[in-house]
Amino acid sequence: MSLIYHAKKNYDRFPRWMLSAAGMLYYQIPAEKRYGKTFEDTLRFLADTEFMSRDEMDRLINERFRYIVHYAGKHVPYYKNKFAEYGVDIRTIQDIRDIVRLPLIDKEELRQHQQEMISDEYDPSKLMYITTSGSTGKPVGFYQKQSILMTEWAYVMHIWSRAGCKPDSSRLVLRGKQLPPQRQDNNWFYDPLRRELNCDVMNMTEENMEKYCSAIEKYRPQFIHGYMSAITMLAKYIATRNGGLRHQFSGILAISENVIPEQKTYVERALGARVFSFYGHSERLVIAGECEKSSSYHVEPTYGYCELLDENRKQAKAGEITATGFLNEAMPLIRYRTGDLAEWDSSESCSCGRNHRRLISVFGRWSQDMLVTIGGAYVSLAAINIHSDEFDHLVRYKFVQDEPGVVDLQIVPGKSYCPQDGEQIKRLLEDKVNHTIRFNIKQKGNLEVMKNGKYKIIEQKIPLTFGRKDGRGGVTYSITLIHAGYLKKEVSAA
Ligand SMILES: [Zn+2]
Repeated sequence: MSLIYHAKKNYDRFPRWMLSAAGMLYYQIPAEKRYGKTFEDTLRFLADTEFMSRDEMDRLINERFRYIVHYAGKHVPYYKNKFAEYGVDIRTIQDIRDIVRLPLIDKEELRQHQQEMISDEYDPSKLMYITTSGSTGKPVGFYQKQSILMTEWAYVMHIWSRAGCKPDSSRLVLRGKQLPPQRQDNNWFYDPLRRELNCDVMNMTEENMEKYCSAIEKYRPQFIHGYMSAITMLAKYIATRNGGLRHQFSGILAISENVIPEQKTYVERALGARVFSFYGHSERLVIAGECEKSSSYHVEPTYGYCELLDENRKQAKAGEITATGFLNEAMPLIRYRTGDLAEWDSSESCSCGRNHRRLISVFGRWSQDMLVTIGGAYVSLAAINIHSDEFDHLVRYKFVQDEPGVVDLQIVPGKSYCPQDGEQIKRLLEDKVNHTIRFNIKQKGNLEVMKNGKYKIIEQKIPLTFGRKDGRGGVTYSITLIHAGYLKKEVSAA
């Protein structure tokens, strides 16, 4: 286990001078010792295999796929039963093309069979227990090996290396991390051990953002790492700040929230640096990061296998991300329906030279990030994709919906806002959705972030379900899929 993993539990209690001294000493230690063997080995493996041929990649995928399926069939009671029930003889599972013969699972299935899904080789009390919210809002929990944390960190660093970020690069951190109580005096603190300038995203008042800007100018972090909603807030503040910001970031690493194209365009222009985001989820089954040569997401072939399934649960060009993880045999999840939507990039190849399969338009948690038209079709915000100067005049906005076809757009106006902006925004949005939704603009003094510091851009009060077969009490709508920039015509409610 790595030093940083042990250090991070207690060191928030140390005084600042001691941390600075520790930070200086810490960076004298060679990187492989600091982050541990798992991290270093994984990072090296990823660098070695990054530009492998399509054939080599297929061979690795097949190897890992066969391993996890065979392991599950042998050591996991749930899969033993399930494969028998579906008539799957695992000896006949040879390569990834056989994946379609395996049953699908979803969060509800996971909730019901959680204990049977743990491998008989692992003691649950020695595993990490992670929870995430299910499609009905009920949390669902699962178990992972401890070592997966450093393995995953290596994948993330590997992806970020495309932005020039290294494990030791300094970062401005804007995420829902609680500042330790003794460091809350400034709403920010600098952590020399991790080279992180942490700023509170719960309290992004102008007064505090001014302090953040001074701290940025003092510590000069190379990258911004955090939630896009918070980064956008800060960029908007900097745009109106006297003299702007006397510091140039090398790149922006967006995490956890869906990146709305409008935010991305704005932030890249305002801060003069590229935004890189990646798709991942707490189940740790599929990870895909943006490329330095394009904006498509390269799926990491050795982390897990990604399928996109349409409403009939068939592999398709666009659909629900259905994931088979390769890293966690303690509780294998095979063909797990994530509830997230994406579309394959069908262009021949990427100019970076990597042979990875690529996604465009990854939309996270669809059930939270969709609006419903008067006809009952779903529209993703990323598909609405509006960029106009009028949006730049808003500090923050939120879509609130409790009936199909009507959406309240709550806005916090900035200094440069005038009422015509509101009318223009309404017009643009309604045109974009072919007038299938009416938008009412409502001014607010403030719009709060959630307890974890993330910001919910859509507050969707209509219970949405994906596809026709899953009506578990909610209204069942058909979906409108997802070509960024255009809307398919309505499909009526089932
Ligand atoms: Zn590429």
